[in-house]
Amino acid sequence: GGIENNRFPIDNMGSILGTVTHETLDAAAAVLPAEAIDAIERAATSAHRHEILFSERAANIKQSAVRDVFDISMRPGLVSLAGGSPYLQSLPLERLGQTAAKIIAEQGMTALQYGGGQGTEELRTQICEVMAAEGILDADPANIVITAGSQSAQDVATKVFCNPGDVVLVEDPTYVGALNTFEAYQVEVETVPMDGDGIVPDLLEAKIAALQTAGKNVKFLYTIPSFNNPSGITLSPERRQSVVDICRRANILVLEDNPYGLLRFDGKPLIPLRAANPDDVIYMGSFSKIFAPGLRIGWALVPAHLQRRYYLASEAVTLCPPTFNQMLVSAYLRDYDWRGQIETYRGLYQERCEAMLAALAEFMPDGLSWTRPDGGFFVWVTLPDGVDTYPLLRKAIDAGVVFIPGAAFTHSDDPSNKIRLAFSAVPPESIREGVRRLAPVLREAVEG
Ligand code: PMP
Repeated sequence: GGIENNRFPIDNMGSILGTVTHETLDAAAAVLPAEAIDAIERAATSAHRHEILFSERAANIKQSAVRDVFDISMRPGLVSLAGGSPYLQSLPLERLGQTAAKIIAEQGMTALQYGGGQGTEELRTQICEVMAAEGILDADPANIVITAGSQSAQDVATKVFCNPGDVVLVEDPTYVGALNTFEAYQVEVETVPMDGDGIVPDLLEAKIAALQTAGKNVKFLYTIPSFNNPSGITLSPERRQSVVDICRRANILVLEDNPYGLLRFDGKPLIPLRAANPDDVIYMGSFSKIFAPGLRIGWALVPAHLQRRYYLASEAVTLCPPTFNQMLVSAYLRDYDWRGQIETYRGLYQERCEAMLAALAEFMPDGLSWTRPDGGFFVWVTLPDGVDTYPLLRKAIDAGVVFIPGAAFTHSDDPSNKIRLAFSAVPPESIREGVRRLAPVLREAVEG
């Protein structure tokens, strides 16, 4: 069953064992067989013995609130507006199954074997085409490193550039998985404010100046310029070049995380920061949102002069990215209408986003506001100042709906008056029902 840790509701064996006492063992002895008690006692003793062996790095690794509510979200009857899962039902699954079988049958010796650490040349070449679809026209397959999802690309970048105590700049709010990576490397995370058009260049410049004057080593700006997770906010085209220019002048790299860029609802994708800035931007892409997250195939497009360090660090973690999965992605890009599938997704997510915005307008109490994203998976709702949305999660679950409290996406430990709602994985009728269930919980918080 679920237990509460100090922040998020979880099933966490580690913390259960960490709190085993003689009293709890005596109580357990009354109801459990002796072998079970022995096993618990042994595990608890080992947990205590090994606690002192943890690295400082491991102590910094936090639970992701998104992963925590993942299991809860699966409960039947609940509407989950929590996880940003893509809608896979619209993929041609039967045909993909045949493709997968064919790869094993005809190229099994390669598909099931180790491959090169940088990823297959075929897929790296195809990735250049994917990036060209959003305006990166000069990518060289030699400068691409395929990774186990873009999550792993973030990890490698942090490993390559950051010593403990170095500073990484992030948007406020930003992706929880990136925060977890930075914290694991004992990096100091500093936030840059956003408005409705993304990072505010003047404030970025002032922040960098203040940090560098204070003697801090600022290594990179981590940014999700298109359809930020969790806020849905997009860095306006007018600001894009100045953000890179400010970083370049201060000798700071830009780590551009762009898993949602092709999922812009209307019009062409916005031009990534990397397009005109090949030497100062490490670009990270992913097949998770446009194809299949379970394959764990992402990539980094790295400036040529950084490629070797980056690639060696990646190889040290995984030896090579998954060969079979790369071949399946390659077959998908070669033999399927992947551009058409992205069009389908754009329409589908736009419809879901509109359903969410309509339901928010219909059901939400006064005093709340929310973003109107042009793409991606998320709407970011702001409650009045002083409301802490974390305790509302429990109440929402009781009401049959799940969301992610805003605190998950900020570096500070302060309470947050925001919530993230994902519209990607749930059909429009369920989105409406979820928002309808959520409304009284938020109303009570606002009026209470
Ligand atoms: N960056 C952002 C902004 C994301 O939202 C996600 C997935 N939720 C990732 C990176 C991780 O993607 P991947 O599955 O490629 O590791």
